[in-house]
Amino acid sequence: SQRVVLITGCSSGIGLRIAVLLAKDEQKRYHVIATMRDLKKKDKLVQAAGDTFGNTLTLQALDVCSDDSVRQCISSVKDRHIDILINNAGVGLLGPVESISLDQMKMVFETNFFGTVRMIKEIMPDMKRRRAGHIIVMSSVMGMQGVVFNDVYTASKFAIEGFCESLAVQLLKFNVKLSLIEPGPVHTEFEAKMMEEVAKMEFPGADADTVRYFKDVYMPSSIDIFEAMGQTPDDIAKCTRKVIESSNPRFRNLTNSLYTPIVAMKYADETGGLSVHTFYNLLFNFGSLMHITMNILKCLTCSCLRRRTVSPD
Ligand code: NAD
Repeated sequence: SQRVVLITGCSSGIGLRIAVLLAKDEQKRYHVIATMRDLKKKDKLVQAAGDTFGNTLTLQALDVCSDDSVRQCISSVKDRHIDILINNAGVGLLGPVESISLDQMKMVFETNFFGTVRMIKEIMPDMKRRRAGHIIVMSSVMGMQGVVFNDVYTASKFAIEGFCESLAVQLLKFNVKLSLIEPGPVHTEFEAKMMEEVAKMEFPGADADTVRYFKDVYMPSSIDIFEAMGQTPDDIAKCTRKVIESSNPRFRNLTNSLYTPIVAMKYADETGGLSVHTFYNLLFNFGSLMHITMNILKCLTCSCLRRRTVSPD
């Protein structure tokens, strides 16, 4: 029988690719409930889904920030039976902390943290009762390592990681699996949306030096990093499929082997100084040599560290 997979945030990017990849499974092992906040944005998904639309893929409205929307959507699922929940919906936020309002910051937590928690709270009790199910959370490398000028986004991903790390222990007792997917940069609208936001930003409250470090130092190196190290949404979809198809899925799943040194560095130095100073040097001393730095990073990624990731193929 088919496994029911519910995915949030399927109008674009990673969510769309996961939905389509699973719906197109040759053995038709999945029934995908692809959800999105605004059904008016369904065209890209419907087109990519092709003839799976209405067959192995169905579409539902779901806003992870609304109790009513989540309850309505889940209650419409037959017997409320969801085998696999993929929490993918998320928003980014970039810039100097001084120029971001607390309301903007709360919106990021509303989506990335409370949105995911709301979904889990609604679906987990049924999974526990059935002693079966798999919850996937789209975290990020930034769920483990802070990144300059991504303060609030990073905090929201740290928050969800702490939540999941705690919950995983209890869920194990109920045979419910919980896995984090931790991509590095991925070429999606996420990136474009953030660049757009930045172009519009006026930086109220931030001093000139900070604005310069952000716009002229951080932004160009960030674009370079996306170019040099970015994966495709399809890569992340394939990694996710691997995780849900594993008989013994891992809790943490980094998808990009180029990022394993960053995580290794964090755990290698308990004072935290190594990470802070390495990032400082990357940004302020080698920024203009970002490509060279990236190549050094690639060389440092020895095969033993590479094995720790889940690869798309
Ligand atoms: P994206 O912007 O293309 O997709 C995010 C989706 O979430 C969009 O379809 C958006 O409409 C949806 N969404 C936002 N708020 C919502 C809400 N309240 N209810 C329902 N849906 C909502 O970007 P993406 O890169 O595909 O992001 C997907 C996930 O991957 C996010 O959680 C993001 O944090 C994570 N991620 C992205 C990257 C990257 O570099 N792009 C890296 C690591 C992790």
